[in-house]
Amino acid sequence: MTFNQRTALVTGAGRGIGKAIAEVLAKNGVTVICVSKSPDSCGGVAAAITAAGGKAKAVPVDVANGAEVTKAAEALLAEFGKIDILVNNAGITRDGLVARMSEEDWNAVIQTNLTSAFHWTKAIGWPMCRARYGRIVNIASVVGLVGNAGQANYAAAKGGMIAFTKSIAKEFARRNVTANVVAPGFIKTDMTAVLNEEVQKAAIGMIPMQRFGDPADIANMTAFLCSEESNYITGQVFTVDGGMAM
Ligand code: NAP
Repeated sequence: MTFNQRTALVTGAGRGIGKAIAEVLAKNGVTVICVSKSPDSCGGVAAAITAAGGKAKAVPVDVANGAEVTKAAEALLAEFGKIDILVNNAGITRDGLVARMSEEDWNAVIQTNLTSAFHWTKAIGWPMCRARYGRIVNIASVVGLVGNAGQANYAAAKGGMIAFTKSIAKEFARRNVTANVVAPGFIKTDMTAVLNEEVQKAAIGMIPMQRFGDPADIANMTAFLCSEESNYITGQVFTVDGGMAM
């Protein structure tokens, strides 16, 4: 994969999939701005990347807060001059059946998983268009394609992320800015570690490859979509799920 002196911003880079994405980009020579909610988690990842010889900066931002996102994006654009790659990965779950779901849990998931991508894209996407270069990768979920009982808020956010990505792909294409979606299945992170043994067993039963994926499986696909080599791919959804949603 080729990256020509690129700078990337990865949200949710403190743990799990986002951390793996930050690491693989940094290994390929990309300067990585690691965003997470807690200063400790993005700080730890950025420090480890720097210690390994890479280039990284930690920026704690609550992505659910639009004003905070806009302020951080403006400051980072002023500091770095440009951001070439945006990976909207931060996400949460607040599961429950619709009949029992609070409006607070609905809003928290939509704000964190979907509205955050709107704010980052608005702030960083247009400068990418002016520079006539950009790669945007949004991390959705297979749940955004097929739905899931008990996850209506999460499925709505992820399905919205897919439609949002296709729309910005169409808006930005003639300015050489691509936008694609990676839709993971079950991946071994803190998000799935909370599932009880019975649920994990049932999930594995639905996966033809009969195991959960690793964060690196998502990171490798994401990095390809951020690289120069993916330059004619836009508006697409790539499921990385061991065959679950085929
Ligand atoms: P994770 O291990 O729970 O990590 C989530 C990351 O997002 C953390 O770094 C967290 O920050 C950050 N984050 C959450 N809320 C935030 C906020 N308000 N502001 C800033 N950062 C915030 O999750 P993961 O499993 O790696 O998931 C990453 C993405 O993949 C999510 O969008 C998720 O929906 C998607 N996904 C995951 C799976 C899976 O099986 N794991 C499957 C499909 C899709 P802190 O470290 O500061 O808490």
